[in-house]
Amino acid sequence: MDLREECLGAKKIGISGHIRPDGDCVGVCLSLQMYLSKLLPEAEVTVYLQKPSEEFSYLKGYDEIQTECPVQEPFDVYFALDCSGDRLGDAETYFQNAKKKINIDHHISNSGCGDVNLVRPEVGSACEVLYHIMDAELIDKDIAEALYTGIIHDTGVFQYSNTTPETLQAAAFLISFGFNFPKLIESFYQKTYLQTQIMGRALMESIRFMDGRCIVSMVDRKTMEFYNAVPGDLDGIVNQLRNIKGVDCAIFMYETNVLEYKVSMRSNEKVDVAKVASFFGGGGHVRAAGCTMKGTFHDCVNNLSLHIDKQLRGEQG
Ligand code: 5GP
Ligand code: MN
Repeated sequence: MDLREECLGAKKIGISGHIRPDGDCVGVCLSLQMYLSKLLPEAEVTVYLQKPSEEFSYLKGYDEIQTECPVQEPFDVYFALDCSGDRLGDAETYFQNAKKKINIDHHISNSGCGDVNLVRPEVGSACEVLYHIMDAELIDKDIAEALYTGIIHDTGVFQYSNTTPETLQAAAFLISFGFNFPKLIESFYQKTYLQTQIMGRALMESIRFMDGRCIVSMVDRKTMEFYNAVPGDLDGIVNQLRNIKGVDCAIFMYETNVLEYKVSMRSNEKVDVAKVASFFGGGGHVRAAGCTMKGTFHDCVNNLSLHIDKQLRGEQG
């Protein structure tokens, strides 16, 4: 994809990523905004996202992110990044009404929702997908910092199997710009006291099943209210569950409404959790995926475990 060609003549460009934006999502939106502003100085480039965590406030452009989507004239070009069009939240209308829709993503569950699509499920982060289509000459320290943030978030600091030689080559080039990368890694691992307390509680209340090959934990709304926690405070719990010896598949759920849960799944080598999540209307990657489910906690776990069990027994999920 040639970004200059795709955006040629565009005066009004919009960029959005998925709801509950994570590091990759915020990084890819802000780095594309900075890049397009340099590439096309005439164009007005705006990012529309649900309010991202303050954790990312060090990124250039963070304070200009628009969190509301008022009715306005159609955009010449609109980018959906790190997701498909149905996970853009309020910005979906902007995307659907745009004169040209561009989709850049790395989710295996996304078959491409734009007029122009670049979906590369084999790449670990949307930031890396974007990096490979950028002109290296235009990358500066701020763009590099945003791209690097996304890469470390989606690869778990180069830990997951989605890290490739190309990922590390990209990271090597990016850190040559001299931003404080150890600090970014430190803040990736750092948690507030409250986040640590909820994690401790979720780990303590976790339940193993299928001979310890599966583990699940849940945080209900009452507990969220007690700790005054937002969904972002629960990040990392599911990874911690997956780290337990003998676990092939970890499930973490939090209550979003009466009889409704947001589900996060992580697996090691054996279970394709994107397949499990897709079955319930969600999606993601082979080793990390999610969905929203309705029903009681036990119903949800039972339904998920049927699919996980099939895969563990070597049947087609
Ligand atoms: P997490 O568990 O961290 O929320 O998400 C893991 C991965 O699955 C991320 O790449 C995320 O974008 C994707 N994902 C999580 N929930 C959903 C969902 O409801 N639908 C889709 N399509 N993807 C999801
Ligand atoms: Mn991503």
